[in-house]
Amino acid sequence: MAHKRVAVLGSTGSVGMQALDVVAQHPGHLEVASLAAGSNYELLADQVRKWKPSVVSLATESSANALRNLLDGESPEIVWGDTGLMLATTSADADVVLNAVVGAAGLAATHAALSHGIDVALANKESLVMAGELIMEAAQINTATVLPVDSEPNALHQCLRGTEAATVRRLVLTASGGPFLGWSGKDLDHVTPEHALEHPTWKMGPRITIDSATLMNKGFEIIETRWLFGVPTQNIDVVIHPQSVVHSLIELVDGSMIAYAGPTDMRLPIQDALSYPERWTQGIEPLDLVSSAPWTFEQAEPERYPALALARQALEMGGTAPAILNAADEVAVAAFLEGRLSFARIIPFVAKVLEGCDTTNADNIETILEADAAARSEAKRHLGE
Ligand code: MG
Repeated sequence: MAHKRVAVLGSTGSVGMQALDVVAQHPGHLEVASLAAGSNYELLADQVRKWKPSVVSLATESSANALRNLLDGESPEIVWGDTGLMLATTSADADVVLNAVVGAAGLAATHAALSHGIDVALANKESLVMAGELIMEAAQINTATVLPVDSEPNALHQCLRGTEAATVRRLVLTASGGPFLGWSGKDLDHVTPEHALEHPTWKMGPRITIDSATLMNKGFEIIETRWLFGVPTQNIDVVIHPQSVVHSLIELVDGSMIAYAGPTDMRLPIQDALSYPERWTQGIEPLDLVSSAPWTFEQAEPERYPALALARQALEMGGTAPAILNAADEVAVAAFLEGRLSFARIIPFVAKVLEGCDTTNADNIETILEADAAARSEAKRHLGE
C-alpha cells in the first residue's frame, strides 16, 4: 500500500485539523511533510511537536517569530507570507498537498503544487471557482491529479470511478437548502446573521454557512464540477436534499443512477482524497439506513435560488467572471454578517457587481487576482464604502 508525505495547508482550521486526524489514523500510510497556518502559532506549535514537519509556514513574520520562540529545541524550517506558503507547498518533498487554505491565497498554492507535479487534495474552493481552466490545465501538463475534498464533488468523483465518461448523462449535486428551507420570500427579509449561521446538517465556517443558505455555495460547486470532470454546464443539476445523506449522484445513459451516501463527516472525503486510488478503513459510525430515513428530494426552484443561475451565467461569460462572482459574494456575505446588507439582498447585490465589472480572459493567476481585487473595490463602492 501507498505511503504518502502530506503537506497540510491551513492546518489549524477545521478541515486541516480533521486532515491531521486522518493522518493520525493511518501512520503506516501517511506522514506530515509540512504545515502552513494563518496566525494561530500556538496551535501550530503543538502540531509541529506532534508531527515533526520539515517546513512550517505562517502568514506573517511576527507570528513566525512567535512560533520560533515557542519551539526552541525543535528545528523545522520556519517561513512566512506568500513565499512561505509556496515553500511549504513545493519544498518539503510532499507527495500530496492538502489545500485547506481559506480564500484566494489558496489559489497560488494549488497552482504551484500542480506545476511541480504534486497531487492536490483540494478543499480550497477558490482554486477551481476562480481559475478552474488554468488549474486543470496545470494538472494535465504536469500529470498531477486534483482530488476534490469538498463533499459533493468528492461524491461525484467516487460515483464516476469505473464508469465510461460517454455513458454518463448527468451529474446531480445535492444541496441541504440551508436553515431557511420552506421560508417565504417575505420571511427572508428578516433573517439575522445568528439565524443564518445555524446550519442544519454540516458544521462549517461562517462564509460557507451563509453561502449554503443562499445556495451560492452550490453555484460554486457547479463551477468546480464543470472543471473537475470536464462536463458541459447543462449536464450538471442541483437537487435539494435536506438530510445531507446522499452527497451526490450520477445518471447514466440507460436511465439508471449511482448515488453516494454516507455520514456527514468531512474525514470521509478528506481520507478518500488522500488514499485514492486505495480505500482504507475509518472508525466513523456508518450511516444507519433506518434512523437516517426518510431521504427526501425537492426541486431547487430557480426563483427561490437565483444564485444557481448566476453561477451558470458567470461560467458562460467565462474568463474572469467566476472570479468576480466569488469576490462579490465574499464582500456581500461579510456585509450581511456585519448587518449592512439584508439576507435577501445578497444575491441581487452580487449580480449587480458582476454586471458592473469588465471581464477579461483568465490567462494567468495574476490576471485573475487583479480581477478579484477590482471586483472587491467595485463591491465596496456599491456598499457606499
Ligand atoms: Mg460542499
